Amino acid sequence: MHHYVFLGPQGSGKGTQAEQLAAHFDIAHISTGHILRHEVANNTSLGLVVAESMKSGSLVPDEMVNEIIKEQLMLPTASAGFVLDGYPRTVPQAEFLATQSTVNNVILLELPDEEVFDRIHGRLTCEGCGHMYHAVNRPSKMVGVCDQCGGRVYQRADDTDEAIRHRLVLYHELTEPLIAYYQKQGVLLRINAHPPIPEVAAKIIAALE
Ligand code: AMP
Repeated sequence: MHHYVFLGPQGSGKGTQAEQLAAHFDIAHISTGHILRHEVANNTSLGLVVAESMKSGSLVPDEMVNEIIKEQLMLPTASAGFVLDGYPRTVPQAEFLATQSTVNNVILLELPDEEVFDRIHGRLTCEGCGHMYHAVNRPSKMVGVCDQCGGRVYQRADDTDEAIRHRLVLYHELTEPLIAYYQKQGVLLRINAHPPIPEVAAKIIAALE
């Protein structure tokens, strides 16, 4: 089964690579960050609860994201397979995921912290479909408008220096233990995230096939 998880720091290209991998195998791309931003934008009861922690780059409680994942994995769109992007982010989340589904491969995108800052500066996201752009390196054809869905392309509230620093600390503390967790299960694939996007995408597909 195509049950994949992406791991890696902010800016390592998880979102972009997850989107491309999901398109390649025609399976669901599930991004908890995208789903949560949608809740915040729509002022739902969940959105109101998580808005502050998201803005500061903190994690939202495990139970909330676990509930989202449980629902997403039950959708018919996930029956052919899925790529998880931004989940799990803590060991308890990974343990919860194991109660819901198998995981065939975990793709770890490796990128040093210094590069994370370079990449996140200028990063832009589509509010509608979550597609990523870069103001200089990979702009949308029309400024502020998504090439793919026509949605609004904007800078995320948590793509500021302060929030990025905080998110990286949390990544090292809470998410990095998942590397050992999945390595022990023999499902971890390490990929250097430094090369250009198409090169990384090709390496991922070659490693999975
Ligand atoms: P991302 O788009 O994956 O960078 O996620 C953006 C923000 O959403 C994170 O900084 C957290 O506030 C929240 N978030 C997304 N996924 C999770 C998760 N698995 N666990 C906790 N918080 C999450």
